[in-house]
Amino acid sequence: MARMLIGCIADDLTGATDVAITFRRQGLSVVQMNGVPDRALATPAADVVVIALKSRTVPANEAVAMSLASLAWLRTQGAERIYFKYCSTFDSTPTGNIGPVTEALAEALGAGIVPATPAYPRNARTVYLGHLFVGDLLLSESSMRTHPLTPMTDPSLVRVLTAQCRGRVGLVPFGVVSGGADAIAAALAELRERDYRHAILDAITDADLVAAGKATLDLPLTTGGAGLAMGLAANLAERAVGARAASFPDVSGPAVILAGSCSSATLGQLEHVKGRYPSFRLEPEALLSDPDSTARAIEWARRSLGPTPIVIYASAPPEAVARARETLGRERASAAVEDAFRAVAVALAAAGVRRFVVAGGETSGAVVDALGVRALAIGPEIAPGVPWTSAVGGEPYALALKSGNFGGPDFLVRAFEVQG
Ligand code: ADP
Repeated sequence: MARMLIGCIADDLTGATDVAITFRRQGLSVVQMNGVPDRALATPAADVVVIALKSRTVPANEAVAMSLASLAWLRTQGAERIYFKYCSTFDSTPTGNIGPVTEALAEALGAGIVPATPAYPRNARTVYLGHLFVGDLLLSESSMRTHPLTPMTDPSLVRVLTAQCRGRVGLVPFGVVSGGADAIAAALAELRERDYRHAILDAITDADLVAAGKATLDLPLTTGGAGLAMGLAANLAERAVGARAASFPDVSGPAVILAGSCSSATLGQLEHVKGRYPSFRLEPEALLSDPDSTARAIEWARRSLGPTPIVIYASAPPEAVARARETLGRERASAAVEDAFRAVAVALAAAGVRRFVVAGGETSGAVVDALGVRALAIGPEIAPGVPWTSAVGGEPYALALKSGNFGGPDFLVRAFEVQG
């Protein structure tokens, strides 16, 4: 069986992509999967498999069930250690889900003590004396204070995690962490002896996280943001098959851009390629009133395929989106656009298209689902947070899936320069 150095369970999709890219930056080969994998599904060789769940804000018992099912699959695939990834602002409530998921995974793995830190200095998240800072503000003074689903009003991670856990939560303070990996490992062993089951790790710099990664390498379970994942991966690079060795398929042929995001970044990116790439506009009103409009888009696309990428977009400025949502209803307008993109993607795949750039989180979900893609190998980054990916298991589509607001104005040009 292929060697999987890390099996990672992420509590949301964007966080999963973030951690997947982080592992790859450290030279590890990474496959990302959406949702709990089918039992029968076997992944190809990868140093890391990241499972993207939507478990951050569901009831705790559901989050636990999804996470345990993911763990069971990762273990059948030979994962050597488990990383539970959550947000670098520790997004959770007094009932979970970070604590309950951690404790369920720890019990299943027989973990003695579980180190935890959301520190991610690259994104200005640091932990000092157990207190989480967002930039120069305490977590409780940051915008997370009023988050609609997971308001964070207490900056002390020891207190926050204690409220969610049965086991005792201790701290490995900066004075110890700055002493390096051996000092951290000794502090963890001591906490374990004193019957602590969780340990918040202070970390201010990437070097702290690399030391923490080294100290926790032999533990079955660690939890945190993308920062500690980096620290762990930095210590595993020598044992990895490696991103370079893992072949990223060279997919060529006509390319299609499907844009359903109405974010200002995406609107700017479309403006940038106006006149350069042939484009076709979908309107929710027309999609709902005229049964042939999707077929027309597909017909246009088939005719226009060639060496230059083509664009099919529903993206519209805020006033137009507001109008459509008012007259059609928000759900209906979205569903009309997403269904059209599903049909377009399937028809163009049947016509031989293997390269898709998709703008919009929901839109990407719809397209990936319509194409039957269940696992993605992470490839080169086009813009921070947006890699080329390649579908694993079925047709080897090359997919660039972009959250609406990601990427600079030239993203739709850069994507094809990066891919070559
Ligand atoms: P983002 O990542 O920017 O949030 P999403 O794809 O997640 O992008 O969400 C955009 C939503 O807006 C989708 O549900 C899409 O179907 C919908 N949409 C796209 N174009 C229009 C439009 N012209 N009018 C109304 N809704 C639209």
